[in-house]
Amino acid sequence: MTNKLVSENSQLRSQLQLLLEQAHRNQQIMQRYQELDLKFIGANTFQELIDSVFDTLTEASELDVVTLTLIDTDAEIRRILTDLRIDVSDYPNLIFVEQQNGIDDPTHPSRKALLGPYNTLPHRRLFPESVLKPASVAILPLIRRNHLIGWLSLGSLDAQRFTASMASDILQHRASIVAICIENVINNERLQHIGLTDPLTGVNNRRYVERRLLEEVGRTRRHGHALSTMYIDLDHFKKVNDSYGHQGGDEVLCEVAARIKAELRLSDALGRFGGEEFVVLLIDAPHDAAIAVAERIRASVCNTPLFLSTGEELHATVSIGVSTLEKIERKDDVATVAQQVLGKADEALYRAKKDGRNRVISAI
Ligand code: GH3
Ligand code: MG
Ligand code: MG
Repeated sequence: MTNKLVSENSQLRSQLQLLLEQAHRNQQIMQRYQELDLKFIGANTFQELIDSVFDTLTEASELDVVTLTLIDTDAEIRRILTDLRIDVSDYPNLIFVEQQNGIDDPTHPSRKALLGPYNTLPHRRLFPESVLKPASVAILPLIRRNHLIGWLSLGSLDAQRFTASMASDILQHRASIVAICIENVINNERLQHIGLTDPLTGVNNRRYVERRLLEEVGRTRRHGHALSTMYIDLDHFKKVNDSYGHQGGDEVLCEVAARIKAELRLSDALGRFGGEEFVVLLIDAPHDAAIAVAERIRASVCNTPLFLSTGEELHATVSIGVSTLEKIERKDDVATVAQQVLGKADEALYRAKKDGRNRVISAI
């Protein structure tokens, strides 16, 4: 009898021990999940958030692959990110797709979490060529205010990791946190983008160019690449306004901004500095190359007439001053050098005006 009690007692003890260990493991899992949620919520930028999703989530949840698919109709998100100099091609696990018809219908199948084996056909889009092919997947819709904004797709090489019979509540909770955070960081990036964009022409504004100039002068100091700047001013713009009205003048500004942009590389920066003045930063461009670009810009404005929405046709010209920073000494102050290089382009522009306009003048 005593022996039986002792044996029952020890059985109970070991069961209790198992339960305690299980509770401890669960507590650790919950803590890991909470830490992960806090990490997502704490992300201030798009880049920080997707780094957390791809690195921390993959590691903390012991997954083999995680991808994030965002519905990005008309490439609006990609345009904002590119303008803010975030290279989306650095993230093969980040996929952008166009909106599909009927996707906002609450009964649409893509709005339901799907757990199970990886199927080449339906899942190929969510796990593109460049990423590891999982054996089982959890496809979690990201829904904000009843709108489907994308999918968080989790993949494991273990075929049993995600099965159709498995409960998906915790995964869906994770997906709703990711959805909120994505909406927040994209809205932040949108705001930042608006603050750095000229509302009339859609090119960058003065604040952006001044900030970027400091960055680029710093880069020239570190790497020694030449940095060229251009000051561009429309000739006799007052007359354009006088003849075609302010609206006509605005249309001319937009068209000229577009023509300047068309001559630049993606890595260059174009900003509207004031009324009818633009500044261009040509990255890694020696003086000769910058003069050639300026000459192309001058010709593209001068050689082709502009058409206004009223159907009127007019000819516009620009004057351009070009200066180049070939190198900068360690001891030199970045802000002073930035001011000097732009100041030289401005002086060259002044000479271009004095010499008769519609010309490019070098600051050297
Ligand atoms: P110059 O060849 O010497 O540069 O002659 P200009 O007439 O262009 O000279 P100025 O720089 O003095 O005049 C700029 C004009 O640009 C004055 C202003 O009415 C006009 N302007 C400034 N901002 C805007 C704008 O946003 N839209 C329009 N339509 N006009 C603007
Ligand atoms: Mg002018
Ligand atoms: Mg001016």
